[in-house]
Amino acid sequence: MSINSESRPIPSFLANTHTPDTTTFSGNKGLELEEGLIFELSDNLHKSGIDIPAPSNCEKRLGGLERSGDIGLPGLSEPETMRHYVRLSRKNYAIDMGLYPLGSCTMKHNPRLNEKIARLSGFADIHPLQPQSTVQGALALMQMLASYLLELTGMSSVALSPKAGAHGELCGMLAIKAAHDAACNTRNIVLVPESAHGTNPATAAFIGYKVKTLPTSNSGTVSLEAVREALSSEVAAIMLTNPNTCGLFEPEIVAIANEVHKAGAYFYCDGANFNAIVGKVRPGDLGVDAMHINLHKTFSTPHGGGGPGAGPVVLSESLARYAPLPYIKRDGDILQLVENQLEAKLDGKAPLGRLTAFHGQMGMFVRAITYMLSHGSDGMRQASEDAVLNANYLRASLKDVLTQPFGDKTCMHEVLFDDTFLKDTNLSTLDFAKAMIDEGYHPMTVYFPLVVHGAMLIEPTESESKANLDQFIKTLRALAREAKSGPPERFIKAPIYTPRRRLDETTAARKPRLSWKPTSKVDKVAE
Ligand SMILES: *Cc1c(COP(=O)(O)O)cnc(C)c1O
Repeated sequence: MSINSESRPIPSFLANTHTPDTTTFSGNKGLELEEGLIFELSDNLHKSGIDIPAPSNCEKRLGGLERSGDIGLPGLSEPETMRHYVRLSRKNYAIDMGLYPLGSCTMKHNPRLNEKIARLSGFADIHPLQPQSTVQGALALMQMLASYLLELTGMSSVALSPKAGAHGELCGMLAIKAAHDAACNTRNIVLVPESAHGTNPATAAFIGYKVKTLPTSNSGTVSLEAVREALSSEVAAIMLTNPNTCGLFEPEIVAIANEVHKAGAYFYCDGANFNAIVGKVRPGDLGVDAMHINLHKTFSTPHGGGGPGAGPVVLSESLARYAPLPYIKRDGDILQLVENQLEAKLDGKAPLGRLTAFHGQMGMFVRAITYMLSHGSDGMRQASEDAVLNANYLRASLKDVLTQPFGDKTCMHEVLFDDTFLKDTNLSTLDFAKAMIDEGYHPMTVYFPLVVHGAMLIEPTESESKANLDQFIKTLRALAREAKSGPPERFIKAPIYTPRRRLDETTAARKPRLSWKPTSKVDKVAE
């Protein structure tokens, strides 16, 4: 029984995930405080952090449907509430705390200047339903972002409204479908390499296409031969990532694009890895017809818990007219948001419809354009060069202790290792990744791409200094040595120093418990 369990009860289900050799009387560790859910902290459902007088003589207008029982919200004072959420936030890991080497995610620094500009009241305090004449500046910023994205990609048109990479894929693939429909094509197959991100086949399947998988060659890329073999009059499009998820540039991409076009299909490029090639290669020159750009990866806007994503889609000339509503049009000095099909028809367009209620993630547009303007074209090019350099520095510094699945060759902005170096150790990629957490490092992306056994995909990004990378390399080298010749405990038991030990991740993913019930008796829980 812990001494403060009355004020901060620790749910019994945590007992077996608690570190036995670091148990304290209080259940806390150092100044890391341990506590239950906010509902469990509350000892009184009627307590409130605010004090407003009860309404008097209030006319009831709900026809007798008003709530009669307790609302069931936890009763906590303001300081109790603040402390709970601040403690929770300290359990989160963030790019602002240290290296976050998640491959395929481009977890780069989010410059504070971006935040400052996004908070200017002229951007932050406007509303999407304001008359267009009062938000000309915001429209001008969107127009500017659009033109920079077109410049960087060499494409014809851009849809700003998609709200994430996966949403952008949906937008681009719907544009491709609209083009086929307009030509009365009933093609129903989409080619996707087996190394693709799961969102690619999911997008194709979601809009009714059959997915045909392309094999990855021994060199980790997609071969022209394999594409040729898979193409037919039934193929609507290919979805290809470049650089691909093995961290390699697809060398046959132009020939592949030509072949795809010759077969009457379109080329969708997954642009999540654009950070490797900004200012170096224009996807339009590679024959791409549609590509999403993750502003939250390449252009430094925050990810996930840090904020919403934004996934603008650039389109080639052949798809431009199918771009979704709304889009911005210049009429003399006035910028106008075209929001309906009729108006778009007068412009000679056939929009695929609308993907979001309004215009996209305005706050992310401001952050992305701030990043672009503060870096300039030379700075953006250098960011890509440094991202590639950093990944190759890791590759060269680790290649004698870790193993590379496709031989030792220069990578792009991320470096892929496999679990061959763990052969005969009884340790897995997961054990290795968990041991990294004890050393103060968020693990790399593991078990993706699926084509590589026990994959470890590391993306340092350009924002890490050499000193940081050297420290990381030293740690990974020591762990690799220990994995091969030391006692296995450090790995099998890892993570040891975290608030929770190793979780049953399958149950957590398959049976998440997302709600709390006052009477529920919990013996096994997935977090
Ligand atoms: C991140 C990513 C996506 C999906 O982007 P979201 O913004 O997370 O929806 C798609 N493909 C690849 C290769 C990615 O890395």
